[in-house]
Amino acid sequence: MALRFYNTLTLQLQPFVPQSDNTVRMYTCGPTVYDYAHIGNFRSFVFYDLLRRWLRESGYKLDHVMNITDVDDKIIRNAVAQGKSLAEYSSIYTQAFFEDAKLLRLEIPEHVARATEHIDEMADAIATLGDKGYTYSSDGSVYYRISHFPEYGKLSHNDFSGMKAGARVDVDEYEKADARDFVLWKAPKTNEPFWETKVGPGRPGWHIECSVMAIRYLGETLDLHAGGIDLVFPHHENEIAQSEALTGKQFARFWMHAEFLLVEGQKMSKSLGNFYTLRDILGRGYPPETVRYLLASVPYRKSLNFTFKELKSAETAIDRVRNYKLRLETGKFPQGVNEQLAARSEQAVKDFREAMDDDLNTAKALAAVFEYITDTNTAMDSDEFRMGNVAAASGLLQLFDRVFEVLEVTRSADSLSDEQVAALIAERTQARKAKDFKRSDAIRDELTAKGIILEDTKDGIRWKRK
Ligand SMILES: [Zn+2]
Repeated sequence: MALRFYNTLTLQLQPFVPQSDNTVRMYTCGPTVYDYAHIGNFRSFVFYDLLRRWLRESGYKLDHVMNITDVDDKIIRNAVAQGKSLAEYSSIYTQAFFEDAKLLRLEIPEHVARATEHIDEMADAIATLGDKGYTYSSDGSVYYRISHFPEYGKLSHNDFSGMKAGARVDVDEYEKADARDFVLWKAPKTNEPFWETKVGPGRPGWHIECSVMAIRYLGETLDLHAGGIDLVFPHHENEIAQSEALTGKQFARFWMHAEFLLVEGQKMSKSLGNFYTLRDILGRGYPPETVRYLLASVPYRKSLNFTFKELKSAETAIDRVRNYKLRLETGKFPQGVNEQLAARSEQAVKDFREAMDDDLNTAKALAAVFEYITDTNTAMDSDEFRMGNVAAASGLLQLFDRVFEVLEVTRSADSLSDEQVAALIAERTQARKAKDFKRSDAIRDELTAKGIILEDTKDGIRWKRK
């Protein structure tokens, strides 16, 4: 079966191929940089990352745009309160976002587009929508007239036909899931920063930002647009209304949405005390790759219950694969090939690929890897696993890690390099030969203190990071 994704637009699982050539043109909604991103946000970002990696693994090139929303109500409010310029304030959290993304090993999209660098293009688009009769102005703000776009509601599958024309809100902190005309351009309030443009002084609404930057970098019809499930309405519905009114063409062929994240079974909120940024989690001593693994391990269309117990399980799961990799690399296996195990390896790769092709079923893909590890570990214990089976086993681990990327240990700045560890182990071996046990014990203690664990096995000394 070929690669297929669940499309929110059609409510169906559909085979995915890009519309032209071999490049996937995709847009994902990025962070609003008013504060540190929380783990609910990172569920979406890890989903985008898995999507990228699996599209590439499927043979496609990527042209991916992600926006940085660096102007909105919260940013303005906080910047003004702290006496900072918009740029000063938002750059702190933009940088923090990229630091967090790096720790979670998220690939950076081909284009990262900042809203404040595209203000004139947004004003142009709003003026064009005005020429086509889709807008009206009120008190210096410009609104989108939803009644002029009969297809409104086709993504969220809501029926807006009974909607009262002209009803609206002029905030872009959407708390109400209510059918209303939405703001394209906001007139400045006293003491707020604003831009002088062809549609007057003010700043853009959030929705127009994504439409304009998507079309600017990717063309009028995207292959794929993704986001969190909370963005389906109104944000993505509004993106469609703006973009399709502008171009007269379908805006995105596939819409994909990641489900909610719960924490300890409840909706994350500051008042419940279960609100976590990535930094909060790492501050408790969990390595970033365990967070990445946990967020990746639940298929994106299932709601994910983030618990510290699950985070511990993620740590154990990663350890299991790392230990297996170490055994593969250092074990001494009998010569030859076990044909049955060779077939078993091929089957594991096939199962992994089929699971990922099936709308990124990460849980099933991981199960394929762990069942294989169990089977081949047993075969190693009974000497049935041969030297000639090592390459295929390594190949499966490489495929796994190109997608999940958790095998490398995140190291602190003062940790030893692989070379330094190897040199110390060699020195310890020499010391033991020379019966200098004081020195050899000192080296072992030094390595332990730096998080390096030595294991004496029948095949010699091997080491790993804690
Ligand atoms: Zn967006």
